[in-house]
Amino acid sequence: MPLVSIIPELKKAQAGQYAIPLFDSFEMKGFEGTLAALEQNRSPGIIGILPLTINKPEGRAFVRYIRARAENSPVPVSIMLDHGESFEQCIQILDYGATDVMFDGGQLPMAENIEITRMIVRAAHTMGAGVEAELGWVGAGSDYEDPEKVRQGFTKPEEAERFVEKTGVDALAVAIGSAHGVYKGEPQLALDLLAEIRERVDVPLVLHGGSGLADNQFQAAIKGGISKINIFTNLGLAAGKRMAETANAENSSYFSIGSAAKKAFAEGCRGFINVFGSTGKA
Ligand SMILES: [Zn+2]
Repeated sequence: MPLVSIIPELKKAQAGQYAIPLFDSFEMKGFEGTLAALEQNRSPGIIGILPLTINKPEGRAFVRYIRARAENSPVPVSIMLDHGESFEQCIQILDYGATDVMFDGGQLPMAENIEITRMIVRAAHTMGAGVEAELGWVGAGSDYEDPEKVRQGFTKPEEAERFVEKTGVDALAVAIGSAHGVYKGEPQLALDLLAEIRERVDVPLVLHGGSGLADNQFQAAIKGGISKINIFTNLGLAAGKRMAETANAENSSYFSIGSAAKKAFAEGCRGFINVFGSTGKA
């Protein structure tokens, strides 16, 4: 079960009430730690690639590298563009070897978001890839000082229903109170809103900005219909800390610092995989 589009796995997760993790990768050590965690826990998983990574000169080669590693993995691994910015960028990364894309039109007017997402769905499906879109606005953690501002960006259930119907999208990221980056203030998920969306929409739902949520919030979200959770911030912070400690230790070296990054990612990812319930699902 090597490189896959993650959509069939997301449907299994939806039926089985667990969540598939998306962990973003920016370089080899973090990716190797992430892959090791998926394999040790026998979990399906998604490697997220952000536009800033594919826009680098080595972007295409990095996707090819992950592809070569995933092809030889015993667990199902998807490579997904995370927060794609345009139709062209989605097609570009599929050409590089990604297996799924997420288009983030959450800040566009609804009609434009529908139009672009629908085009991406048609093109991606032709290439055997799945598409996730976002509706509403998953803010930044720093916005949590102003809960009213965050609430205005929440996904509206009737819009979600219309959006999924018009676009044919395979998975939908919803804004229900999580945020990207480091939170200021205490994040609380709007589980009543999630239930309303779940009732109107039958595709797998996605939670972005998971770092900083408590385990019981994750589990309540999964029970409420979330089948995919995106994580990076906590992993990056933990790895940075571990690398700094290793650098300051006796006998530290270029090699030991790199290994520390890989280990930190492996441990961090395994922790999330266990909370999400995807251990042993591969
Ligand atoms: Zn995100």
